[in-house]
Amino acid sequence: MSLIVQKYGGTSVGTIQRIRNVAARAVAAHRAGHRVVVTVSAMAGETNRLVALVEELSGGDYSQREYDVVVATGEQVSIGLLAIAIDSLGVPARSYQGWQVRLVTDSVHAKARILDVEAANILADLDAGRIVVVAGFQGVDEHGAVTTLGRGGSDTSAVAIAAGLKADFCDIYTDVDGVYTTDPRVVPKARKLDRISYDEMLEMASLGAKVLQTRSVELAKKYKVPVRVLSSLEEGTGTLLTEEDDDMEQVVVSAIAFNRDEAKITVLGVPDKPGIAALIFGTLADANINVDMILQNVSVSSGETDLTFTVPKGDFRQAMEVLKGPVASIGARDLVGDPDIAKVSVVGVGMRSHSGVAQRMFKALSAEGINIRMISTSEIKISVVIDEKYMELAVRALHAAFELDKDAGDRVGK
Ligand code: ASP
Ligand code: MG
Repeated sequence: MSLIVQKYGGTSVGTIQRIRNVAARAVAAHRAGHRVVVTVSAMAGETNRLVALVEELSGGDYSQREYDVVVATGEQVSIGLLAIAIDSLGVPARSYQGWQVRLVTDSVHAKARILDVEAANILADLDAGRIVVVAGFQGVDEHGAVTTLGRGGSDTSAVAIAAGLKADFCDIYTDVDGVYTTDPRVVPKARKLDRISYDEMLEMASLGAKVLQTRSVELAKKYKVPVRVLSSLEEGTGTLLTEEDDDMEQVVVSAIAFNRDEAKITVLGVPDKPGIAALIFGTLADANINVDMILQNVSVSSGETDLTFTVPKGDFRQAMEVLKGPVASIGARDLVGDPDIAKVSVVGVGMRSHSGVAQRMFKALSAEGINIRMISTSEIKISVVIDEKYMELAVRALHAAFELDKDAGDRVGK
């Protein structure tokens, strides 16, 4: 008998019939002898609708606290409906919102971080033979205010609950049947991975592969939660997120990720002295804007430097706005931005022990005439920023160059 946390996304609970289907799955696991907790998102499109209401009313200038009050309601509907559906199949169910569990977060509204999961309620219900349904996406801060965890946050709720309950599995049901070498819509020959390491998945998620919210993978890694990514529409073994082993290290590149959701900003003619980077990035941090890639190189002749970095596209306008003051105060020459970029990355734990990956990547891109605007690397990833219009071409070229359409054992360069 295992304790399983199942998570279903918005598409999986998008209609009454689909909610019945989710209820049947939860009940089947319960009848097989497992202790079952289900976390769900709002019905498909509902969170977008709620966000649009806030935007329409306010024109974008609104209290983040009240934004959370509005957008968290989508999940209240789906958990109640699901509990009713499970009950009607003869298994007692009980639903909880984030504040009822309690899923305690910090007070950074619209992107709150989970601090603690109080699991007593849930355990008592499981002991009483119930299926427990918990709202994804929402929590409560120390003042009792409703918070939300950022778009896609139900994944993180599910993993946090699984960690808090020391669950045997956290099964993330979605509309794809696992994690692929790249998005099959861009490369039809992309293959499903049976397993992927937490670190690789972390890179994939943060690079914009939309299967899981990045924070959910961070949590899974920290608490070693075995996460399975599964299809809610068909049976299958999905992809298991796990710690890496020797087999995984034999493969140089496991997957190609891409992301159109970033924008590039450059501060031109920055004086070369201490404190400048701290001021620029401190300003962005104060505005809760995450910076991704950063590039700086001092020109020997002029003693000046250009500072280039990327931010989420959604934060682009705000970033340009808040930087105006600091950029003027340090006497930099100009502030320019470009939202029409894309980031393409090759990811694999095998890079730790293999050389020549960068060369193979750059060769494949140059063969297609694609110009690289920025490069960054980590131990297990190489990312390039290119013009957005070449993104799909780059992904296809790299998928072919690293032979990801072949079985790992059949690849020439592994
Ligand atoms: N309903 C929320 C959203 O659409 C959370 C989630 O789906 O994970 O972002
Ligand atoms: Mg999602």
